Parts: sequence; structure tokens; C-alpha cells
Amino acid sequence: MQSKSRKITVIPGDGIGPEVIAAALKVVEATGVKVVADVQQAGAEVFRKGVASGVPPETIASIEETKVVLKGPLETPIGHGNKSANVTLRTLFETYGNLRPVRELPGVTTPFTGRKLDIVIVRENVEDLYTGIEYMQTPGVAQALKIITRLGCEKIVELAFEFAMAAGRERVHCATKANIMKLTEGMMQHTFEEIAPRYPQIEAKHILIDNCAHQLAMRPEQFDVIVTTNMNGDILSDLTSGLTGGLGFAPSANIGSEVAIFEAVHGSAPDIAGRNIANPTAIILSAAMMLRHIGEGTAANDIEQAVLVTLESGTRSADMAGTAEPSSTTEFTDTIIANLGRESSTSAARDFHAVRIAPMREEVSVVTASTRRVTGVDVFIESDLQPAALGESLGELVAATTLTLQNIGNRGNIVFPVTEQTVSLVDQYRCRFLARNRHADISDPEILSLLTRVGNMHRWMHIEKLQQFDGEDAFSRSRK
Ligand code: NAP
Repeated sequence: MQSKSRKITVIPGDGIGPEVIAAALKVVEATGVKVVADVQQAGAEVFRKGVASGVPPETIASIEETKVVLKGPLETPIGHGNKSANVTLRTLFETYGNLRPVRELPGVTTPFTGRKLDIVIVRENVEDLYTGIEYMQTPGVAQALKIITRLGCEKIVELAFEFAMAAGRERVHCATKANIMKLTEGMMQHTFEEIAPRYPQIEAKHILIDNCAHQLAMRPEQFDVIVTTNMNGDILSDLTSGLTGGLGFAPSANIGSEVAIFEAVHGSAPDIAGRNIANPTAIILSAAMMLRHIGEGTAANDIEQAVLVTLESGTRSADMAGTAEPSSTTEFTDTIIANLGRESSTSAARDFHAVRIAPMREEVSVVTASTRRVTGVDVFIESDLQPAALGESLGELVAATTLTLQNIGNRGNIVFPVTEQTVSLVDQYRCRFLARNRHADISDPEILSLLTRVGNMHRWMHIEKLQQFDGEDAFSRSRK
């Protein structure tokens, strides 16, 4: 029985995008699934027409209606837009989970061939350093805010476990740098450890991100699903693509509560655009992920099996042909279509269930603390003074107040009270003030009065309250 037709938004994109998207749509059509493509624009040409985001309102309206996007790579031309169209799409529709599966493919020879790699990176896609909140604190000191939220951690960890359950996976690793960034990366680790017991069928392990990279190079076959924060995931997922044959074979899904965007990992490869030689495998496998997402699991399996059969038969696109005669993009695509219905001799089709995706929460997400205090304040000051001179000046400024100067840091190291340590100093100092009476809270008027005093003598550019939640310090300690 033919399924009901399903409308999707298709963005051909830039460079090789239109060629590989056409290939993917042809394969989808050949499966018999009735997909109606609402073709919309985004990327380089849209930027050039003056749309600052690279995504025009018609495209946004289409996505709001269809909720499912098959997308080619998008370029941000130099001098246009302060944010890429990809980031705009990801943030506009809060596609918080980036799923990047890789697996050993027949005939795609790598140093790991024979080790049956089959790894999925589940990358948090909207938080972390990628919120793009940056400041020049002095002309020579830049700062980026790494925003990690309990909500974001819960959503991505749940997605990783739900995906593992749906895909019959056995193990989820959570990769973080919680040993150094105890509050941000630590929040991901703690959330993972809290949520993991809800999925007793799945083995759950925390691993430090640097060790994870090392282990991926040494014994990648130990990994199944890896969940991680945005920047770690960005790097690890390119690494895992490399382990299994490179960009031409790496599909991805950007999953949100309401919208999902499916795309190849590769970019627009302008050097080979328009020559009918691009490898369409990555976007065809992305289209298979899309079909699974819209409930067409049989067609998804058919496509994945046909890709495997095509590679097993020795058909090669130009990027992997070596000395053999390469197939063009269209020939390669037609071979996949001809192989629909055949079963791979190397890998059986997977038994997948629908992934349960958390609904969008309308309310503001709040984590409450039963007790909270403000015990001090860090004031960031731009100064070319030596630490001893700055410390003396600040000490005098607060001598007759309810606050004391506890210490001064420079590039994360305590430099006042003066230590034996030799560090290269810059003109940005973090100056930590605490309540003289350690049991008292600091009020806003005390902080404002402090800033007025400091501002009369020095240039301050930023402050941060030192808080305690439930009796625990909610800030990092400085390095001695
Ligand atoms: P890229 O487009 O992925 O291309 C890098 C190289 O990889 C190409 O020159 C080509 O190598 C090879 N390649 C990539 N995809 C291939 C395919 N399907 N078939 C065969 N070979 C393929 O990376 P880039 O050059 O860094 O980026 C180009 C543009 O794409 C930039 O504007 C970037 O911002 C954008 N981009 C967009 C996305 C996205 O929309 N999600 C992602 C990444 C980059 P050979 O030289 O060997 O032919």
C-alpha cells in the first residue's frame, strides 16, 4: 500500500549542494515513498540579495509548516552576515541534537578497515561556546562565554539514551572536560550520571574528552554512542568521519522538538561543483535518516542496504576511485537506485524504533536552590600596574568598607597576595572581594558603592557576583 504523501522543505544550497540533493531526492522517490519537495533557498545567493541571516522568510515559513528539512551545504560569502545560515537555521528551530553516525563501509579502505566501526556522536548543538557571546575585555584580551545549562544537558543526554534505545545500541559514553571545567562540563557529566540509571539496558560510561580522542585513535571499536557538549562534539564528529572514510560518507541529523534538519556533514566543495563528480553518499544516507524520522523505516533500510550493495559491487565515486574508473554523481546514484531491494552481504538492516524526542517546554526552565547567598564579587579591571601596586591600591579603596580584597588573578593564576610563581601578565585582572564578616551576605548597594570607588581610580569592565547555592560555592577557585 502506498503511504500518504509527506511535504518536506528542500534547500539545495551552494556548490555541490544542488547536485547531491537532486541525487538524494531521486533515490527517495525510487523507494516509493511519496515525498513532496517544497524547494526553498538559503545560503550564498540569499546573503548577496541582502538577507542578513542568509535564510529568507519564505524558507522559514516552509520549515514552520513541514517541520522536516533536507538541506544542501550553505556558504556565507565573505563580507556578508555575522552568523552562518546554518547556525541561523539551527538556532531558529532549536535543533538541539546533532546525530552523526559513521560506520565501516565496504570498499572504503581506512587504517581501521576490518574493525567494524559503528559509532554515533550525539552532539549538543545550540549551547556552549557556539552561543557566540564574545567580548574584547581590553584591546588585547578576548573572552567567550561557555553557556551550559541544566536544560540543555538534560535534553541532549535524554536524546542520546532514547536514540540508543531506538537503534538497539548497547553503550553510551559521555565525553567531557569536567576535570578542568567543573561547573560547565561538570554539569554535563552530572546530568549524564543522574539520567543514566533511567536506562538500565544501556551501559553508561563517562570519559574525559582528551582520553576519548586518544581511545578513538587507538581502539575506536569500543565506542557505540558518544554524547558530548557542542565544541567537543564538533571536533570528535569530524574525527569519527575521518576514521571511516571521510566527508563524502558522513550523514547527519539536527534534531529539535519540532523541526529536524537532515544534511551531509561536508560543505559546498566549490572546487568540484557543477562537474557531476561529487560523492552523493553522505546526503543519500542523510535522506535515509530523514525517512526513518518521518516513519518510513523500511525505505530508510532499503536505501542504506542499496548504498552498501553499491559499494560492495565496486562502484566508486571520483573521491574514492583511486586508479579505478570512477562513476559520475548521476551514475553512482542510478546504481544505488538499481540496487534498491537488494541486501548487503556485509551488514544486515537494523531494527529501528522511533526515537522519543522531548517536547518543547513553553515555560522558563528554572533550577531552584533551597538556600542562596552572595558572598563576594569579582571585579575585572584593565590595568598596566604590577599586581603588588594594584593590590595596594584596591586594599586602600576598600579599607573603610564592609568588603576586603581576597586576591587578584591574572590569566587564571593568583598574583596577589604576591607568590613565588612566575607568570606572564596581561592588563586584565580579576579582583576578588569578599564580605569582611564572612557570615554576612553582600548587598547590591555595597557592590555599586565598590564599583564607584574602584571606577574612580581604575578602569573596570566586568563584574561577577560570587554566589553560593545550597551551601556550595557557585564559582571556580583560582589557581595558586
Ligand atoms: P568542504 O566543502 O566539505 O570540502 C572540502 C573538500 O572535501 C572538498 O574540496 C573535496 O575535496 C572534499 N569533499 C567534500 N564533500 C565531498 C563530496 N560530497 N564528494 C567528493 N569530495 C568531497 O569543506 P570546505 O572547503 O571547508 O567548505 C566549503 C564551503 O562549505 C565553505 O563556505 C563552508 O563554510 C561551507 N560549509 C558548509 C557546511 C554546511 O552547510 N553544513 C558544512 C561545512 C562547510 P577535493 O579537493 O579532494 O575534491
